[in-house]
Amino acid sequence: MSAGPDSPTRTSPAITGFERTFADELSPLTVAWKGADVPDPRLLVLNEELAETLGLDAAALRAEDGIALLSGAAAPAGADPVATAYSGHQFGNYAPLLGDGRALLLGELVDMNGHRVDVQLKGSGPTPFSRGGDGFAVVGPMLREYLVSEAMHALGIPTTRSLAVVATGRDVRRERLEPGAVLTRVAASHLRVGTFELAARNTELVQPLSDYAISRHYPDLAGLAPNGSRNRYLAFFEAVLERQAALVADWMLVGFVHGVMNTDNTTISGETIDYGPCAFLDAFDPAAVFSSIDHGGRYAFANQSDVLKWNLARLAETLLPLVGPTADEAIAVMTAALSTFDTRYQQHFLAGMARKIGLTDTFGEPELVDDLVTLMAAHRADWTGTFRALAAELRGDPTALADAIPREHTDPWLRRWHGTLDRLGRDPAQTAAAMDRVNPLYIPRNHQVDFALRAATDGDLTPYERLMDAVTHPYEPRSEWAHFGAPAPASFNDSFQTFCGT
Ligand code: AMP
Ligand code: MG
Repeated sequence: MSAGPDSPTRTSPAITGFERTFADELSPLTVAWKGADVPDPRLLVLNEELAETLGLDAAALRAEDGIALLSGAAAPAGADPVATAYSGHQFGNYAPLLGDGRALLLGELVDMNGHRVDVQLKGSGPTPFSRGGDGFAVVGPMLREYLVSEAMHALGIPTTRSLAVVATGRDVRRERLEPGAVLTRVAASHLRVGTFELAARNTELVQPLSDYAISRHYPDLAGLAPNGSRNRYLAFFEAVLERQAALVADWMLVGFVHGVMNTDNTTISGETIDYGPCAFLDAFDPAAVFSSIDHGGRYAFANQSDVLKWNLARLAETLLPLVGPTADEAIAVMTAALSTFDTRYQQHFLAGMARKIGLTDTFGEPELVDDLVTLMAAHRADWTGTFRALAAELRGDPTALADAIPREHTDPWLRRWHGTLDRLGRDPAQTAAAMDRVNPLYIPRNHQVDFALRAATDGDLTPYERLMDAVTHPYEPRSEWAHFGAPAPASFNDSFQTFCGT
């Protein structure tokens, strides 16, 4: 296998125009690198709609040259791919040097909307940051990331996107031998809290890194003076805080469990990143944990906002030298900023829950939301289906709701809900329609994903393509997709686990 900067590089003209602002401006955080050879590349999926947004020619990507590029075997003409370095807290423990152990940043493109994005390969072979790992990835988990990230995008949740998955023809050792694959990921950037944690070890890097992050993600703040009445870096921290508070609320509203919320998997852009052991809730359980390695439940569903806040405290620490003339003042300022996280999160969550039950966030009855959540937890009601069932109830069909929660338990809550809607003069049909616009029919249900990935790993992509079609049209009722809206059999959920870094 050839890898590393010294071996000859094959180039491909399938994508041109790569830029490299990160590698140029923050070169100490990158290492020039290239992908491993690929024995037998085969394109499994290509996101033509995303290719178009990026100004790329889908036909060129499907051709031999394009597939070579998407597999990591060839570098884009004129680009200088790098592996990036970062640190991180994994399950609360500090890891001084992580970095792209199996990823390669090809470079940056400016999309049709004028947004600069990173194009990164995942699974393209070992790098100087591989530590004990083999640097590779396999078909099932890469197709999983593609499907779940595109479903999240369709749900309107900020996320990295997936452009393609290429099978490499290399067998990769996991619990058994599995077919190797490379995912092409597109992200607003790959800056993470962990990038700042690494920069903080060389204090001269924190300010240029922050300025880079500001110009890329929060350009409105670039005009603030470093030490003006509104400190540029404090404003930057607050902006990240706000985006991450909104993001974690979005996850909660769709029942998404990220599964590995380490600081190296918390972005500065506010996008969801790293779809390793993530999963969606079926039966609602606030303590739900799916990851096989999360023994203590640190990243359980209901812990996610607290963990996010903890991760942002790690970001705050790295910025201390930039926000106050003295350490004590800096700590006081950042502690005050961090303390706004819970309120920000609660506001986003409550506003979203209000919309899910056909109200607006000014309806003034947070208890109505709390009591519904308590009821759903007590009866392990299906998180996604229950909100559609509530809309059906409003249209006069209570059967689906009664299937989720016995009627005698929902009656008192339903009386209060109807009372509130009446008081606000809300029309039931219009309210039900508004609810259906925000409550998805289809999410990537674990049993469906599992089934589709097993078939795909064995060479049949048809179930995967069908599921992909449904979860990227989450609000569109179609009779042939009805089964994608149904919960898993209880026997499946009782034993379902996800696997990290696979
Ligand atoms: P993750 O849990 O996917 O965020 O990965 C955590 C760290 O482990 C990152 O530095 C990854 O690059 C690295 N890593 C994960 N899988 C592999 C692998 N198969 N080979 C090398 N490094 C890996
Ligand atoms: Mg990661």
